[in-house]
Amino acid sequence: MPTFRAPRGTRDLLPDDAARFLRLAAVARDLADRYGYQPIETPIFEQAAVFERGIGEVTDVVEKELFRIAPRTDESESWALRPEPTAGIVRAYVQHGMQTWPQPVRLTTIGPMFRYDRPQAGRYRQFWQFDVEAIGDPGPAIDAEIIELGARFYAEVGVEGVEVLLNSIGDPACRPSYLAALVDYYRARADALPPTERHRLERNPLRILDSKDPQMAAINAVAPRIVDHLCAACAGHFAAVRSHLDALRIRHRIEPGLVRGLDYYSRTAFEFYVTGREGQQQALGGGGRYDGLVELLGGKPTPGIGFGLGLDRIALVLGEQAESGGAPGVGAPGVAAPDVVVVSADPNDTVGRLVVATDLRAAGLRARADVGRRKLGRQLEAAGRDGAHFAVILGDELAAGQVQLRDLEAGTQRTVAMSDLARELKRGASQHKHG
Ligand code: AMP
Repeated sequence: MPTFRAPRGTRDLLPDDAARFLRLAAVARDLADRYGYQPIETPIFEQAAVFERGIGEVTDVVEKELFRIAPRTDESESWALRPEPTAGIVRAYVQHGMQTWPQPVRLTTIGPMFRYDRPQAGRYRQFWQFDVEAIGDPGPAIDAEIIELGARFYAEVGVEGVEVLLNSIGDPACRPSYLAALVDYYRARADALPPTERHRLERNPLRILDSKDPQMAAINAVAPRIVDHLCAACAGHFAAVRSHLDALRIRHRIEPGLVRGLDYYSRTAFEFYVTGREGQQQALGGGGRYDGLVELLGGKPTPGIGFGLGLDRIALVLGEQAESGGAPGVGAPGVAAPDVVVVSADPNDTVGRLVVATDLRAAGLRARADVGRRKLGRQLEAAGRDGAHFAVILGDELAAGQVQLRDLEAGTQRTVAMSDLARELKRGASQHKHG
């Protein structure tokens, strides 16, 4: 037999991790709901063209990282797994005529994304994002609403020291002259550019600015800055986004190298980083305005803005924080223990245990039946290991409609009528929770 393993770049989320992810997702859903972002679920795969157009054919995500699905011989359609949710959501916005809904349409989704990345810590081939999109409003207030929502998410899950980096990448009116200045600048230094960056110079020069190549740091530090080349409309928008953020007391730092290097991305671009995290420059999340995207995917010209926050990296940072003595936030490990385990003095009476546990669950308790055919002592030991507060012991009293209720923590035990059992357990469980 071969030894099977999860595919390279993917991870199994075992119960502790999966529970942590679900808690992060629960905070995300609650927050999105409070801000009026409605849930949307789009397919995990789309026609590849949705991403090729919606993200751009000359981006790394499409050029190198798209998980393409080999078409069956009887199909001409070409599919790909979604590398990010925006393109699919905008496709749905156009397909379902959401431009006739009250604008902006505020949408949110949480789910796995797929990129054929080179796997490393915090970089996976399947990862989870919490995503929000507001489609149909040119800003600047909605830009600030979304950035503040992102910052609040990190605060509510307990990530400490999150910094907001902000930039404006202009619009089709002012970007061309900036790009010309940028290309001139890099051409004059072409000999010093690594091959990847020289390639980008011809195809997507804006991306050179966020190169991770250490050789590029000095060259990029003094490159022309787009914020110095914005047209009046974009400069006004940028200033207004900043003053809205100031009013919301969201501290932010202008980062001229922060770009989403595509023609139809425009104006606001932002990312969230944790300050003082050694070793890498990995963003915890990012987003921006995409005023050209709806039109590009076949709709009427409609502005939009959104973000994607990586849940895997948030879980990672919460873990690191806890290790270094900080608060683990909602990232604390642990699967909730049952309220009660139902055990029996008769190792063969699995029916009785299952029936009582089923009744307790129907009454709203978290009850586990010990369904093994082992001695009572063993059953009680296992209940203790599970972290259950109580055990219900089925024995001879059953004939009189009674059971033993054992408080596993206190080590005390008393007789309780079956008809009172659920009520007694609920009272006991809430005392434990609040005690
Ligand atoms: P991006 O669309 O590339 O800006 O990604 C948004 C966020 O998703 C990033 O800031 C990360 O937190 C997360 N992310 C992107 N790619 C990966 C990956 N390969 N593995 C884990 N998280 C990722």
